Formats: sequence, structure tokens, C-alpha cells
Amino acid sequence: METQGCDPQVLQFRMNRLNMVVYAPGRTTKYPSSPPDKGLRYHYLGGGNEVGNVGIVLEDPSSNRMLLDYGLAPTKPPRYPDEAPYVSDAIITHSHIDHLGMVPWLASNHNTKLHATELTAAISEMMWYDCHKVSSIERYPLPWDKRDIDIALSAWNTHKFNSPWEQNDWKMELHRAGHIPGAAMLHVDTGSKKVLFSGDFDTRDSQLVLGAKPVKTDVLFVEGTYGGRDHPSKEEENLRFIKRISEVVERGGTALVPAFANGRTQDVVMLLHKHLPHLEVHVDGMGKRVAKLQMEHPETLRDPAALEDAWRWSRRVSSKSDRKKALAADVIVSTSGMLDGGPSIWYLNRLRHDPKNALLLTGYQAKNTGGRRLLEENRIPIFGNLTSIDLEIDQYSFSTHAGHSEIVQFAKDCEAEDVVIYHSDPSIARPPLAKALEENGHNVHVPENGISGILE
Ligand SMILES: [Zn+2]
Ligand SMILES: [Zn+2]
Repeated sequence: METQGCDPQVLQFRMNRLNMVVYAPGRTTKYPSSPPDKGLRYHYLGGGNEVGNVGIVLEDPSSNRMLLDYGLAPTKPPRYPDEAPYVSDAIITHSHIDHLGMVPWLASNHNTKLHATELTAAISEMMWYDCHKVSSIERYPLPWDKRDIDIALSAWNTHKFNSPWEQNDWKMELHRAGHIPGAAMLHVDTGSKKVLFSGDFDTRDSQLVLGAKPVKTDVLFVEGTYGGRDHPSKEEENLRFIKRISEVVERGGTALVPAFANGRTQDVVMLLHKHLPHLEVHVDGMGKRVAKLQMEHPETLRDPAALEDAWRWSRRVSSKSDRKKALAADVIVSTSGMLDGGPSIWYLNRLRHDPKNALLLTGYQAKNTGGRRLLEENRIPIFGNLTSIDLEIDQYSFSTHAGHSEIVQFAKDCEAEDVVIYHSDPSIARPPLAKALEENGHNVHVPENGISGILE
């Protein structure tokens, strides 16, 4: 940006308009400047009373301080957490963008050491480049650039599950969180209190990973995405999906299955391989590279051989001619999962003319995404043109977040005295979850972003 000869006030005004997320490290943070007098302070930079966009600071009276996750919410426009204060160490639970999207800023501005499992660190690079690409295409501001990615990549310290390390006076340990391969819960023993952060978690097994197991703790910070809602039975939902795929193939159609790259794509391919091995399944999008990294870290997988077999069996699309060939496949699994760009839009545009084909959505479709628009209005923007789609459309619940009952049972099994609910919609999901947890005798806390709480 040209700055010479510009009135500073005008410049500031322009910067505010151009970029709502110009942080001035150390100067614009609203985090308290001194440690708590007593107890343990928690402070949500984001993710306290919303889904995603997570950043949680934990600090004790001796100024031992850490940050758990630093993401952004990939909504339109994206939501960013408050500016993080200086932290020497940050622990990143998993490689979804709502948990690590702001990490390059952190590493670059505060020289923060980053801790995660090896797989989370390995996948981070592609998530950050993809986030950078999307923000350039959609012209959303991002307070970090590609140079900051390099700094963040060199800041990783990786840890295995269940192998503790010391951080100042605290003992830290990662536990399996279910959810996606490499996802961790963090257990912190401060000497006076034991604290467990669930990250995004699921106690149910998926094709890819085993479910999270409870850890005894004093305080549980638990994600409440599905507060008040229970999932349909996994077996029944899987069968419903398999049955529908079979019907589409039997009538001579191709099923287009949009799926998120990190977790869902591999889960769906494994499910198809297990139940419909006679089909021809083509896989496209970033999920191919994620699968490769997952297979390089078999310790994170429930059944590494099952993923390898399914992957070898599927056909990966890697060129334009592969993409054309895939149009004759039985099933195409492709990003983006919410039909926002990516190859899935290209496929939909080609497949939409034949009513024998079908579109099977495999996850939640957020507001302002192509998938949501399709569900609500039967129309979707394709290469700039709002296009009506007459295909059969169905949606399946393949979530790998714990449902209401699983969260309540988990808190009970952890024997947590205090439970802090976060990563949760404050008007719909959180109230019924808070109620159920209170009825079980836990002290329930419902944080707000930007307001500190003290655990005594
Ligand atoms: Zn999340
Ligand atoms: Zn996640």
C-alpha cells in the first residue's frame, strides 16, 4: 500500500476499512497485564460463546501462561479471535482451520513455541496455504502472509500421545481425542489443579480413529458443538448412505459425495470400501494429500491397514483427463465439502444434467455456502452463474463431534468438579448442555469471549 505523503488519520481510516484484523502485537491485546492474584485464570480470545475461532489463555498466579489453539472461523467473512498476548508456548489440539488458522501470526509476532502431535504439525502447512489461497480468492483480510507460515513451521515441537512434558511448573500431556487423526485433548497438571481441554472430540469410534477415553481431572473444558442434540445411530446412518449409493449406481447414475479434506474424505472412502468394494470410487481434492500424511502416521489411526487398503482400492484424480474419466465412475468423493469451489463444483456442473445422478452431502452446510443454498433454494452459484439443480439431493450426519449424551457421560467419567463449556452456540446448544451437566452435580461455567474467569 502506498503510504508516502498520506495523512496518518486518513491512513488509519483506510487500514481499518481494508483490514479489520491489523493487530499491533502487544498493544491491542485486551488480555489483563498482570497474573491472577489466586486460582487459575482462563480467558477466551475466541471460541468461548461460538463454534470455532478458538483461542484460550490459561494463567496461574506465578505467571505460568499458555495458549490453547489459535484459529479463525472460515465463515463469510471469516471471524478472527482477539489478539493473543505474549505466550512462550501454545498447544494446538488439531489441524482444523478453526483451531490453527491464526497460528502463523502468533509464531511470527511472539516467537511462540508450538506444541502438537506429529500429524497435526505435518498437516498444518497445507491447511495454512489453503487458508491463504482462499482469503486471496475471496479477498478477505488475513493478518499473516506466506513468510509467517515458514516461521510457524519451524516453531513446531511434536509430542506423542500419553508422553508428558514439563512446561515451566506445569506438567502437560496429550491424549487421543477421536475426531480426526492426530487430534488431541490436553491435560495440564498445574500442581494445584488438573485441567483437561477436550479440543474437538468424540468418544465414538469412526472408520479412521478410536473414540476419546475419559481422563480424571478437576476441571474439564469441553466443546459443546452438539449440546442439546444427539446423533442418529452411526450404524443406521452408515447403512442409509450405503443403501442410497447402491440405488444410484443400480439406476446407472453417479453419486457425487462432497466431503471435507481433513477427516471426512478418508472416512467416506473407507466406508465405501468396506461395504461396496465392487464399486468404482474416484477421489479428488486436498483429501488425497491429507490421506498420504495420515498413512505416514499410522499411530494415529484405528486401523492403518484398512486405510491403506481403501486408499489403494480408490482411484485418485490427479489430472484433467482423470477428472473427465471420473464422470463415468460410480462414486466421486471430492472437496469442497460445502460445495464452495474446489473440484466438487466442477463435477456438479457436469453431472447436473442427468437425473440418474445424485448429490449426497456428508456434513453440516454452513450459512452462505453453496451447499446450504442448494438445500434451501435448490440453486447454487456455479462459476459465477446461479444455477438450478434438479438432482436428487440427500444429506448424512457423519459428524465426529461428541453428541449431547456423549458429552454428558464424558464429563461424568472424567469426574470433573468444574466444567467449562466452549465451542458451542450460546443460544441453542449451550443452555441444554449446561442444564444437563448441572443436574449431574458439576459446577458449570459458560464463558464469553474477552472476559476472564477464575477457577479457585
Ligand atoms: Zn472446531
Ligand atoms: Zn475439528
